[in-house]
Amino acid sequence: MIRDARERFDALDNHARGVEDLRACGAILLWDQQLQMPRAGSSGRPRHLEAIRKARHERITDPVLGALLDDPTPLENEFAEGSDEAALVRVVRRQYERLTNIPMDFIARYSENASASAQAYRQALEEDDFSIVSPYLERTLENSREFASYFEGVEHVADPLIAEIDPGVTVGSLRPLFSELRARLVPLASAIREQTADAPALPWHENGDADAEAGLVREAAGHFGFDFERGRVDLSDSPFTIRFAADDVRFGCMFKAGDPGMALLSGMHESGHALYEQGVDKAYDGTLLGQGASDGIHESQARLWENIIGRGKPFWRFFYPRLQQTRPELAGMNVNEFVRAMNRVSASTIRTRADEVTYPLHIALRFELEVQLLEGKLAVDDLPEAWNTRMSEDLGIIPVSNGEGVLQDPHWYAFGFVGGSFQQYAIGSVLCAQFYDAALRAHPRIPAEIEAGEFSTLLGWLTENVYRPGAKFTADELVQRATGSEMSVDSLVEYLQQKYSAL
Ligand code: ZN
Repeated sequence: MIRDARERFDALDNHARGVEDLRACGAILLWDQQLQMPRAGSSGRPRHLEAIRKARHERITDPVLGALLDDPTPLENEFAEGSDEAALVRVVRRQYERLTNIPMDFIARYSENASASAQAYRQALEEDDFSIVSPYLERTLENSREFASYFEGVEHVADPLIAEIDPGVTVGSLRPLFSELRARLVPLASAIREQTADAPALPWHENGDADAEAGLVREAAGHFGFDFERGRVDLSDSPFTIRFAADDVRFGCMFKAGDPGMALLSGMHESGHALYEQGVDKAYDGTLLGQGASDGIHESQARLWENIIGRGKPFWRFFYPRLQQTRPELAGMNVNEFVRAMNRVSASTIRTRADEVTYPLHIALRFELEVQLLEGKLAVDDLPEAWNTRMSEDLGIIPVSNGEGVLQDPHWYAFGFVGGSFQQYAIGSVLCAQFYDAALRAHPRIPAEIEAGEFSTLLGWLTENVYRPGAKFTADELVQRATGSEMSVDSLVEYLQQKYSAL
């Protein structure tokens, strides 16, 4: 049956909306599991999630979709370049072709190993014993290579894994990025470390009040422009952002007794992810264009609101009195001292506690080790030692335990793959500065406005240039359109130099 292009497109759009609806149903189950479900509910929940995952997989790999895409001509060719139709067909094709590559029996083996490994990981962390999880990591590594083997014409075994969340990014494009980051940030970090060595320590009392912290997060998110009519914020065991629909975006911030400031910083980070989701053009709601362009772009927005705004002096000139009200221990510290203290650069063994200067070095280390593992140049048993050697070379510090070293991030142990899940953080670090720089060029008064508690010019620029297009453009296209150039480390280095010279 030959149908005209418009009919084919409408059928494809309709089919793909079903895929997106199933994703949203799964997301609701996950949100409930994270925040509401009684502990014993975990006996039934995996079954429900599996049912949805299967239904979604069947729908996206349905041969009907293949026919709509290509019979009798590639459907994107029927629409103008740059149109929403061509963009949607591109995104649907990508998902269809990737998932039809993967045999069902692999997915079953992958899931089984991922949950067994996640369990072993928890025990390995408790006992600070890498050998408990290393046999699972061997299998994860084999699975990762097998996954890559289902894709033809790839240059590096890690490329298909990276493409899962950052389409268009490859080992070939990341290697020069990471070597430039290291070349420019290692000397900068040691210079700034000396310069901030006399910064006062934050006089936090050990425990804050969880509800008060959550209240502050809601307040800050509200100032940034998060719309509470179209979303909600909760305290949770681990931070997350989740979208059910354009008008229902939720995030969780983590309160940890003994880790003061965590809720606020993680809350501002998730605010960035959530503002992105709320800012996507509502016309894309329910379609595969109604999401961010890539994980790297998403992370750039989280890091922009958490670091450039949330650790910046203009924001604290506005917000510090509110923090002092909930944290009486800050009464004797003025805002300049506070900002200097919270931006002190010191080598930390833990990625999530790293300052803005050394953070990308933590990511470079993970990227290089996972590439070596995938290439077979590093054995799993030698991983902890390789980790510590690199930490000492790049950051001048050696972790005192595996929990503070090779075991600190769940990615390799609990998510089922080695490779592809760390580059987003480095891309995000680089791009947050590049986007902010472009926003400042368009509106130089943004810092003065923020100091007065006014965030709408910044949010407006980001919405127009980054959020509204959703997944319509590739990450590279989006960066080029929004900033006028391709991704570059320059803005990040200049931002860090300026920030620290003014502290
Ligand atoms: Zn994030």
